[in-house]
Amino acid sequence: MTNKYMYFIANWKMFGSLNSLKSLDKFIKFFKNFKKNTYSKIIYCPPTTLINPMTKKFKKTQIQIGAQNCHENQNYGAFTGSINAKMLKSVGATYVIIGHSENRKEGETDKLINNKIKSALKSGLKVIFCIGETLKEKKTKKTKKLLSKQITLGLNKIKNNKNIIIAYEPIWSIGSGLIPKKKELFETINFIKKKAKNYKVLYGGSVNPKNINLLNLINNIDGYMIGGASQDPKKFIDIIKKTYN
Ligand code: PEP
Repeated sequence: MTNKYMYFIANWKMFGSLNSLKSLDKFIKFFKNFKKNTYSKIIYCPPTTLINPMTKKFKKTQIQIGAQNCHENQNYGAFTGSINAKMLKSVGATYVIIGHSENRKEGETDKLINNKIKSALKSGLKVIFCIGETLKEKKTKKTKKLLSKQITLGLNKIKNNKNIIIAYEPIWSIGSGLIPKKKELFETINFIKKKAKNYKVLYGGSVNPKNINLLNLINNIDGYMIGGASQDPKKFIDIIKKTYN
């Protein structure tokens, strides 16, 4: 239970069609009547195809929309299949996820991520900057070194930190049902906050209605990034309710 200002980011990944938007009615109704709605920031990050229709759906609410990635180039250009931050903003996004492990796995380097963050900020988007270690890095006790590197390189020459939120997402936890131990997660979040001073730090990785009470005992977490469970409005609502009740 908390009275803290918390972020709840719904990462829909490559799921959802126009039909899926109907499921948001339930969430909109809940959030309008939710007494603690001024304590919480909800950001839905759908696939790019749903950004604009979702913006329309959320028009009369405080719910914000984020994209899931962007191209590093701030201007238009010959980059087939790519979309830049300016284009995402023009269709209603106010945030963009950058550095998600599913994109790092496809070859995104820290340098590219740094360029994308700079480009997004210059285009007026806020950034959800993802970092996190693999299971092998965790087992060989390289987590801190890795996070340190991701933060230093990812945020290189960036001062505008009020427009960036960090999402700590251990790769071994994403989609696996596993979450870090309480003490371990508290210490890692603290480590990130010492390294990246004055940043909000969220946790992401298998957050669900069953483990949220446990996660809420960790008082240095500023919110959650939620993948699988955010696609089911009932589960997403449950997670938010349990955080405040
Ligand atoms: C994610 O991919 O950002 C994520 C948190 O996924 P999940 O909640 O499904 O582990």
